[in-house]
Amino acid sequence: MKIPTVQIPITEIPLEKNIQLFLKREDLIHPHISGNKYWKLFYNINNYLAKSPENPLLITFGGAFSNHIAAVAALGKEENIPTLGIIRGEELQEKWCENPTLKLAHDNGMQFRFVTREDYRKKVILTRNFFEEFPNALIIPEGGTNENAVNGIQHMLPEETKSFDYLCTAVGTGGTVAGISKFAAENQQVLGFKTVDDSSLNDTVFELSERRNFKLLEAHDGGYGKISEENIRFINNFKAKFDIQLDPVYTGKMMRQLFTMIESDYFPPGSKILAFHTGGLQGIFGANELLKKQKRELIKIG
Ligand SMILES: *Cc1c(COP(=O)(O)O)cnc(C)c1O
Repeated sequence: MKIPTVQIPITEIPLEKNIQLFLKREDLIHPHISGNKYWKLFYNINNYLAKSPENPLLITFGGAFSNHIAAVAALGKEENIPTLGIIRGEELQEKWCENPTLKLAHDNGMQFRFVTREDYRKKVILTRNFFEEFPNALIIPEGGTNENAVNGIQHMLPEETKSFDYLCTAVGTGGTVAGISKFAAENQQVLGFKTVDDSSLNDTVFELSERRNFKLLEAHDGGYGKISEENIRFINNFKAKFDIQLDPVYTGKMMRQLFTMIESDYFPPGSKILAFHTGGLQGIFGANELLKKQKRELIKIG
C-alpha cells in the first residue's frame, strides 16, 4: 500500500459560539478503503507483503455491515491478493447477496465463511483453526485493531493537526483512538466517542497507547449499530447545512454527541476542536435497506 497523494481537507464547521470546530476528511482518502481503515491496514499489509509470502491470502472477521470487511475486500482487489471474510451469522449463508456490504465485498473478490454467533465469539479458536488451514495467510483481527494498526494512525496526524486543543474520533474496537492518543502532541486532549457499549475499552486503549491523554465518552445511542430517529435526523440536517455526509454507525453518533457537548459548554471558550471523519459511508446502503423495511425515515445520500 502506498501513502496516498490525495490532499485531506480540514473543513471548518461554523458554530455560533466562541469555539472552533473542524472536520478532517479521512473519508476522502480512498473511494473504497475509507477513513481510518486505510491506515489501520497500512503496516499490516506492507509488513506481510515485504516477506513475499507464497500463495498470499488475507483473512479477517466482521459483521454483515462491517466497514472493515468492505475495506479488506477492496484492498485485496487493488493489491491483487485473495481475501477470505469470516462473517458473523450463519443465516447470511443463504441471503448474503441481499446485503449491500457483502455484495460489494464479493464483487471485489472476497470469499466468505459464515459462522454462528457462538463460534464467532470464540475468536481465539477460530483464528487458530484458520491459521492451521491457511498457514501462509495474514489473519487480521476484527476491525483491524492491533499494534500495526495503531502505528498506522500516525499518518492521520500531520503537522497541521498540532494546533488543535482537542482531537475527536468515533470508537469501535479502540485502535484508532489509541493511535491518536499515542501520536498526539503533548498539549492535546483526545476524546473518543464510544459507539459500542463496552466498559473494557478504556483498558484496551491504554494498553495500546500507553498514554493517559484520552477520555472515552458514551455515544452508542441505544447500542452498536442501532439507529435512532434522532440519529437519522441529525445526519440529514448536517448534510443539508454543511454538505458533508455522515454515517449512522460512527461519525453521525460522534458528531451528534459532540454538538451536545458544545451546546452544554463542555469546552472552554476559544477551544479549537478537530474531529476525524473516519468514513464508513458504504454502511448507509445497508442501513437504508433496514430502515425501508421498517418503514422509517431514510438517510439521504448523494
Ligand atoms: C471502524 C470505524 C471506526 C472505529 O475504529 P476503531 O479503530 O475500531 O475504534 C470509526 N469510524 C468508522 C467510520 C469506522 O469504519
